Amino acid sequence: MSVTAQAQPIVDHRSLYRLPWSLPDNAIAWLEPTAKCNLACFGCYRENDPRGHKTLEQIASDLDVFQRYRTVDGISIAGGDPLVHPQTTEIVRMVAERGLKPIINTNGLALTEELLAELVSAGVAAFTFHIDSKQNRPGWKTSDEIELCKLRQHYAEMVARVGHGNVSCSFNATVYEDTLRFVPDVIAWARKHMDIVSTVVFIAFRAGAVGGDFDYQVNGRPVDFAVMPYATEDLTKHELQSTDIVTTIRERYPDFMPSAYLNGTERPDTMKWLLTGYLGEGGKVYGYVGPRSMELTQTVHHLRTGRYLAYTTPKTLAMGRPMLLLAAVDKALRPVARRYLKAMALHPWRLRRKLRLQSVMIIQPADIYPDGSQNMCDGCPDITVWNGQLVWSCRLEEPEKFGGFVQMIPR
Ligand code: SF4
Repeated sequence: MSVTAQAQPIVDHRSLYRLPWSLPDNAIAWLEPTAKCNLACFGCYRENDPRGHKTLEQIASDLDVFQRYRTVDGISIAGGDPLVHPQTTEIVRMVAERGLKPIINTNGLALTEELLAELVSAGVAAFTFHIDSKQNRPGWKTSDEIELCKLRQHYAEMVARVGHGNVSCSFNATVYEDTLRFVPDVIAWARKHMDIVSTVVFIAFRAGAVGGDFDYQVNGRPVDFAVMPYATEDLTKHELQSTDIVTTIRERYPDFMPSAYLNGTERPDTMKWLLTGYLGEGGKVYGYVGPRSMELTQTVHHLRTGRYLAYTTPKTLAMGRPMLLLAAVDKALRPVARRYLKAMALHPWRLRRKLRLQSVMIIQPADIYPDGSQNMCDGCPDITVWNGQLVWSCRLEEPEKFGGFVQMIPR
């Protein structure tokens, strides 16, 4: 009898906590107050529309749609770039007045200290800066991901200073096949700055090839997919998986261990959102939190507030020591607690520093399979509004241009 050995998965989704986010009950939603942007990033999936600002009434109406259909903790205010909207501060205030956390997703270009101070007084809870080496960014056009850490640090320090430690600061980067090798460098930089950086997010680049394996239709009508900003004539497949990014990270950090995930709509074992948390201080990481800690965090927050947690303040993230008590239920935390206690016994001066939680999120957007099915993120955390309905923000151009989502029909 022959036994075929099964390859060990890089990450087994069944050993992780499945994030409890769903279509009607999620941590976040995605508000687009403008389609205008002051950069032209290579990996962007939105068309830059200079006339694209929404009025405050339209924005209020989008927020009404979210609140009618979905329970959320935070609203990602994105675009376009939200900071080019002339009423950004007002938009942040509108979100905060509804009792939701306003989270600004920006490239940072239009951010001044004065604007930041206004946003802080309007109630901004968090910033996520999108910075990567394919943005054609003035002054940084030839910089690689390592050099761009200087710019990341500039924004992290600004948010810490002006936000007085109450505003969370995270960084996004699109990851391409040729920039994948820099991912561990960005994590190394983030680990050195755990006091001012909450999360780093890596988003695998996606593009749809025109003239390849599919015809494109909307409700049975052929459409010209080539007009989509994410269409390419280059037939190269861009299929970087979240697990490829984990493999690259493990070349530098062999023990890197995700603890929570969100599956795809078509395949339960695809990890569309893959979350890793670790505890450390002063550039030293003591280890990784386990699935039970992630489960307790989301469950307790939901029991207390009725919402799943999106973004926490730097002060909460600095509560690493009380978090070690979760070792009673999370066995992944036991070696972390032992390492930390040993380090404190040997170097008691380190006790002056707070033990902090930092996280790495890896996002794997839409996958297209040979039968034309498209594997989206289950529950879509970044869902937005089009025509009074909730739609995937990563494919918003499709209903905007064609009145519906594109079906891919194998040739
Ligand atoms: S389905 Fe698209 S918009 Fe929704 S979370 Fe995934 S990548 Fe983002």
